[in-house]
Amino acid sequence: MNKRIPAIPTKFRGINFRSRLEARWGAFFSLMGWDWSYEPIDLDGYIPDFILHMHEDVLVEVKPFMRLNDPSIKDAIAKIEGSGWDPKYDGIWPDRPAIVVGAVLFHHSYTNYNKSTTWHEVVIGSQAFHCEAELAILSECEPCCGISIRSQEASYSCMKCGRKKASSHLHRRNVQIVDTCWNEAGNQVQWMGRDS
Ligand SMILES: [Zn+2]
Repeated sequence: MNKRIPAIPTKFRGINFRSRLEARWGAFFSLMGWDWSYEPIDLDGYIPDFILHMHEDVLVEVKPFMRLNDPSIKDAIAKIEGSGWDPKYDGIWPDRPAIVVGAVLFHHSYTNYNKSTTWHEVVIGSQAFHCEAELAILSECEPCCGISIRSQEASYSCMKCGRKKASSHLHRRNVQIVDTCWNEAGNQVQWMGRDS
């Protein structure tokens, strides 16, 4: 089942990424307008792939999983929580949030009770939460004028601005923007090998 996918070191924008998938996430974060650093800190026995500089620093770990129940997610969360990063939840906002992202974006659509409206959710990964995994869902935030991330548990708090203004889902046009950014991120790193 879990065949190891070989990681191809990829140089992109002057940064040596350990894999093409990591480079793609960096390109995606930039296209989304999110500020990030690659491997900026050493934790206890563990170097996180990314820190997103949002309302709080958000740790991002990249694993090439294709399903949100992949066992590598829980392993990654155990590693993060064992490193001293320790995501906590005080009832309002998770302190030191951490997200494990995969090889794809996850789309969900669902209709409301009288089937008059269809909502779209794009899940970018799993959020570490007291040794469990919650979904990290893309959402719209009016105060910070853009697409942000909210956690399943953190009361619709926007990770970008910290306010409880995040929407529960994305409008169709924003789903298309996210898909376009993800595809464009793939294009940007497609031909970037070790020496390019
Ligand atoms: Zn916001």
